[in-house]
Amino acid sequence: MDTGCQLFKEIPLEEYFVEKEPYYVPVGNEVEVFTAAYKNLLPVILKGPTGCGKTRFMEYMAYRLKRPLITVACHEDLTATDLIGRFLIKGESIEWSDGPLTKAVKSGAICYLDEVVEARKDTIVVIHPLTDDRRIIPVDKLGVVMKAPAGFMLAVSYNPGYQSIVKDLKQSTRQRFVSIDFDYPPSDLEIQIVAHESGAGKEMARSLVEIGSRIRNFKHHGLEEGVSTRLLIYAGKLIHEGIEPRKACQIAMVRPITDNPDLQVSLDEIISAIM
Ligand code: ADP
Repeated sequence: MDTGCQLFKEIPLEEYFVEKEPYYVPVGNEVEVFTAAYKNLLPVILKGPTGCGKTRFMEYMAYRLKRPLITVACHEDLTATDLIGRFLIKGESIEWSDGPLTKAVKSGAICYLDEVVEARKDTIVVIHPLTDDRRIIPVDKLGVVMKAPAGFMLAVSYNPGYQSIVKDLKQSTRQRFVSIDFDYPPSDLEIQIVAHESGAGKEMARSLVEIGSRIRNFKHHGLEEGVSTRLLIYAGKLIHEGIEPRKACQIAMVRPITDNPDLQVSLDEIISAIM
């Protein structure tokens, strides 16, 4: 393998640019923190439950920083090769195809690895040299080491609620990132977000958020995870389309989060008390 680092010419990736400003309501100082991390070439970990705005935040930041955004939804079969790239047979010839991480390094993009802990362990080996001040990615199959340009940034998301001892980020990995905590937005902002995204109107959004916050209280009483902002928006969208509000809440906010019939009855009662 070539031990020298090669700074590849940035390649433009038009389709990965976020053209229109995404709707994003800042909840704390996450925009400032992320911008400071980006300027200082620091990788970032976004921690928080599913559906609370991490992906939307990444789209917004990519727009603000005017960088392409390459998002990878990590899953248990995702390997280092998937991230780096592979040779593919194309007709008579064999062609190299960049994986999303290599693409991001080459083009100085922001690479967002969603739910990174789900990926296979060998992916961590690839991530590590990109997260310290070497900022390199070894592409063994091509025999090269690429150095990331200043525009490149690695961001990963992680949901502490899901993790088990088997699936958790090791300290040696965590301590390579600065961490921004995410949670469901405070009520006043969540009402604004649900109203905007669902079209259901402010008063309806207020009721949905009220139901949501009561359901979230069940988190340590049988619920694995509270109801997400995303699900509140889904309920609002169904209502906006004319689905009866209680029914909409049951199918968008209760059934997706629990299969336990007793718990479903308790949560349905919350809905009836508010709607
Ligand atoms: P995550 O990536 O955390 O699973 P998403 O970013 O997909 O969640 O959030 C789900 C939806 O909630 C988004 O599509 C967006 O409509 C809405 N949302 C959540 N938080 C915000 C926010 N702060 N500003 C604007 N929209 C938000």
